Amino acid sequence: MISREELEKLNSYFEEKEPIEILKWGIEKFHPKITLACSLQAEDLVILDMLSKIVKRPKVFIIDTGRLHQETYDLIEQITSKYDVDLSIYFPDYKEVEEMVKKYGINLFYKSIELRKLCCEIRKVRPLKRALEGMDAWITGLRREQNFTRSKIRKIEIDEINGGIVKLNPLADWVYEQVWDYIKKNNVPYNKLYDKGYKSIGCVPCTRPVKPWEHPRAGRWWWEQSGDKECGLHYREVK
Ligand code: SF4
Repeated sequence: MISREELEKLNSYFEEKEPIEILKWGIEKFHPKITLACSLQAEDLVILDMLSKIVKRPKVFIIDTGRLHQETYDLIEQITSKYDVDLSIYFPDYKEVEEMVKKYGINLFYKSIELRKLCCEIRKVRPLKRALEGMDAWITGLRREQNFTRSKIRKIEIDEINGGIVKLNPLADWVYEQVWDYIKKNNVPYNKLYDKGYKSIGCVPCTRPVKPWEHPRAGRWWWEQSGDKECGLHYREVK
């Protein structure tokens, strides 16, 4: 697909380029086997808006864990009204969820970090595998400043965990303010929870608003005192 040597050259070339240039390259090279992972964060909507300007009916997927906010579902409706996208929504395997809940309880994530990660694995990571089946590349809204686990992400990566496909992180070097500037200037729909103090949005029981002085991801799994504050979709090593 892409050799290591080519990857280095691409990253040198695209590091200073605008996100839309990376997206154009990705679409030209991989469409229709390229998809946007849309977790309904502000960053994902920025990318969706950009994609809609460069390709017809971009492929987009959402993972519905079954524990999302009503505001998040409302945003999905808004997206499908505003954009002509080839949207797929993936759900966890109901048998796996039923077994997990029977064994550990409906709110198992508060009991231990291991059970929290099990819940993320079943509700998020496994559906992701299905969403990426048959794809040659995927696009994320990851940014380096979001978390220490993301501080070294590159704009173009080879995702060894997901079959060696290409992973594009076009907003890798953007800061929070750039995301919101784009949203306001381009009238991009966003999750209304941001207006209620949330700065990173996941599932209802695992997300809370943050104070102005707190780290944006402090509201994710806020009861965990240490750890990577990741669900497993991205934090594993990607070369
Ligand atoms: Fe489960 Fe919480 Fe992870 Fe959602 S964020 S999958 S509810 S542990």
